[in-house]
Amino acid sequence: MIRPFNRARNVGIDLGTANTLIYIAGKGTVLSEPSVVAIDLNTGKLVEAGQEAHRMLGRTPGDIRTVRPLRDGVIADFDAAELMIKSFIEKGNEGRRLMAPRLVVGIPSGVTGVERRALRDAALVGAREVYLIDEPMAAAIGAGLPVTEPVGTMIVDIGGGTTEVAVISLCGVVTCESLRVAGDEFDDAIRRYMKKVHGLLIGERTAEEAKVCLASAFPGDENEALTLEIRGLHLASALPRTVTISSVEIREALGESLAMIVDLIKRTLERTPPELASDIAQRGIMLAGGGARLKGISDLVAHETGIPAHLAENPLECVVLGCARVLEDYGRLSRVLDTQISG
Ligand code: ADP
Ligand code: MG
Repeated sequence: MIRPFNRARNVGIDLGTANTLIYIAGKGTVLSEPSVVAIDLNTGKLVEAGQEAHRMLGRTPGDIRTVRPLRDGVIADFDAAELMIKSFIEKGNEGRRLMAPRLVVGIPSGVTGVERRALRDAALVGAREVYLIDEPMAAAIGAGLPVTEPVGTMIVDIGGGTTEVAVISLCGVVTCESLRVAGDEFDDAIRRYMKKVHGLLIGERTAEEAKVCLASAFPGDENEALTLEIRGLHLASALPRTVTISSVEIREALGESLAMIVDLIKRTLERTPPELASDIAQRGIMLAGGGARLKGISDLVAHETGIPAHLAENPLECVVLGCARVLEDYGRLSRVLDTQISG
């Protein structure tokens, strides 16, 4: 049977270091789950993927291993990445296999050529076509930036494992810088601070909660003057204890990480050709990714660079929405893709 071309389902995938999102044309964003899989070491088979696997992190028996395949913005475990993609597509399609989908997969810009090729081959099994796109480009499209026009725009994507900064013009990435400091490192910095200043050991989840509820990156933002009770293990007494901390303390804890992100933005601006840099100075800097939801971060970036900074409307979904837009508007946007491999 010859299947008409337009019957193929368009699918966008954001393969993030922290979260993977799937968009199916006609259905919208159907899945958003942590980029984690649990694998049975004896059989090599997938035990759980996403939320369920995330709950198993640090709690598995000896023969099950939990893996975050893209943790640092490179593919740390290939087989795990492949299992994760397949499991998520199926889950996003209500447990049924999608027939010959057309995939656009957003990947961190640090993924190498060899890894790209292997990933494409892996994703290709069962797909009609697979295209890869650099995540900053996808994020820019998803955030509504005019990437096809001859104007410079800057996107800053603060994810879990990496922050990526890119300057885009005429469908191309002009300059791009990446740093392994993002949301996960914010959590770690809060944990280190609590240990050093309050002698309190706290878990990853507690640190993340403190960040989301309390962090304030810039004086006078919404979270200024909030406090929160944090539970942890008091080191000196080896007993659980609750400590009240303020948003100002969290700002202090995050100071160094935030300064590194600001420096990365400044460095990228310095490397940007003058015409494009002046476009950016006029139009502003666009912030995307879950880490950019940290309160006050756009004020901080604007203050430090002297350039207006805006948070994208839907920071967590920018990449997957950008992938979907490329498929919908293929004629105009295909130039932003890596070269295609057909199935
Ligand atoms: P990736 O693209 O690397 O998978 P995401 O864009 O999904 O990452 O962002 C995940 C990060 O965003 C996590 O570190 C998470 O803690 C952080 N995050 C999500 N919501 C908020 C929030 N409201 N405030 C601060 N950080 C947040
Ligand atoms: Mg991302």
